[in-house]
Amino acid sequence: MANYNPYENMLQTLDLAADTLGIPRNDYEVLRHPEREMNVAIPVQMDDGHVEVFTGYRCQHSSVLGASKGGLRFHPDADENEVRALGAWMTIKNAIAHLPYGGGKGGIKVDPKKLSERELERLTRGFVRKIAPIIGVERDVPAPDVNTNPQIMSWIVDEYSALTGQWTPGIVTGKPLAIGGSLGRNEATGRGCMFTLLSYLEKQGTSIKDLTIAVQGFGNVGSVGALLMHREGAKIVAIGDVHGSLYNANGIDVEKAYEYANSHGRSLEGYEEPGMTRIPNPDLLLLDVDVLYLAALENQVNEANMKEVKAKLILEGANGPLTKDADLYFFEKGIPVLPDVLANGGGVVVSYYEWVQNKAGFYWSEEEVNEKLAKNMKKSFEEVWAMQEEFKVYPRLAAYMVALRRLVEALKIKGYNG
Ligand code: NAD
Repeated sequence: MANYNPYENMLQTLDLAADTLGIPRNDYEVLRHPEREMNVAIPVQMDDGHVEVFTGYRCQHSSVLGASKGGLRFHPDADENEVRALGAWMTIKNAIAHLPYGGGKGGIKVDPKKLSERELERLTRGFVRKIAPIIGVERDVPAPDVNTNPQIMSWIVDEYSALTGQWTPGIVTGKPLAIGGSLGRNEATGRGCMFTLLSYLEKQGTSIKDLTIAVQGFGNVGSVGALLMHREGAKIVAIGDVHGSLYNANGIDVEKAYEYANSHGRSLEGYEEPGMTRIPNPDLLLLDVDVLYLAALENQVNEANMKEVKAKLILEGANGPLTKDADLYFFEKGIPVLPDVLANGGGVVVSYYEWVQNKAGFYWSEEEVNEKLAKNMKKSFEEVWAMQEEFKVYPRLAAYMVALRRLVEALKIKGYNG
């Protein structure tokens, strides 16, 4: 996997989407190139006085439909290629969800668990000072992603507002409620994944009741999704995070595990319950379950393990958890994959609602947010489903086709001058 380049994967799917729709290269060439990319050096004085310099990235993949929009990831593996692919996927995802946004993504190469709280704050504020010239409420609006959270979003708002001399809550989404966050944002990605699964099951004429589900990743996307699916009657038989995986054939007590993770820095380390056994992380992916819900990182199911996967359906909460080979393999095998750009769009949809509320200075009830989210996810699902049926293609390709049509329409109207 050393040479795995997720941006190349994105391009191949985009080209295939264009071919299938008969869209000439000239009409979408713009989308094959990230619009703007910035790499920054962020010096941080550590608690013991020595200075470390971290590398940060921001990729604005597209602004064809509006401000670039996408999360920030703090991870030791963050690099230009990863951020570029994640930014491009946001362009596709935002177009599918009918949001007035382009796509972007950012990151810092760091293991935040090795930093003290004060060091993490200095790093975040330093990053904001470096990318401030290219972000903005109408330009580029970051949000949380892996290892970033509402606290980090708060430091971003504070630093950006200090730099511009103007209170600017809409510069990021995923904020705490106290400074302009939206009700329902924290749960939105997991809830959206559940809505996508329910829409799919409805088409099959089946129910979520007693479906067995294995969940890789128990952070924001994994834990909330697992909890909501459990509340709908599914049996979550395995959960796992970077510290290890747990299996219980009778169903994990997800309410208890969720509480535990939330009060232990979103970690399952040390969690115990009767009847549960510990299994190696790679084994969780190979369990004989109805649904494999992937909610950790990209490239988890690939040429090395795809043939051993026994799940009957794959739900992508994470971005890019399957390599392209794995995607095609499952298509050939008739194992449906509910793709990231559709299934995990709930987070950015409610981020959009947060941004709208910030601009209006008028805040909605949680019920209102969840109702709007449900409608949006349903509409996106139906459009992708219709495309899939019409062209007899696999769901990810159908999702790209829906997005590409919308993007090309906008490009044609706007012109190609960048
Ligand atoms: P998070 O940091 O809250 O959680 C990530 C989880 O994955 C943690 O439980 C971590 O321990 C686990 N993990 C990491 N490496 C692992 C490994 N090798 N094996 C097993 N578990 C591992 O991050 P998140 O916000 O939940 O994001 C998860 C995925 O969902 C990412 O791909 C992200 O891009 C995507 N996503 C997030 C959002 C959002 O709103 N947060 C929206 C759309 C997509």
